[in-house]
Amino acid sequence: MISIDPKHWRVCEGILDRLHEFLNRRELTPADEEEIRQHLKACPPCGDRFEFEELLLDRLRKADPCRCPDSLRARVQALLNLE
Ligand SMILES: [Zn+2]
Repeated sequence: MISIDPKHWRVCEGILDRLHEFLNRRELTPADEEEIRQHLKACPPCGDRFEFEELLLDRLRKADPCRCPDSLRARVQALLNLE
């Protein structure tokens, strides 16, 4: 088990708060993105969390939406394509 000191954990919380914005490439400045990228590389717990979220999002993107009504499908597509 890797122990994380409380000061570091506060940094992690800030990163994880922005993880979804990062995954969707929105609401982030290039400096923010770089900060998150660096942190994910340096911090295994956050890196794992990121990989998990990314995988989840990937599955949602690939999920077959053909049984949804068109209006719902369009909304899901709009959410996934926010770039
Ligand atoms: Zn971290």
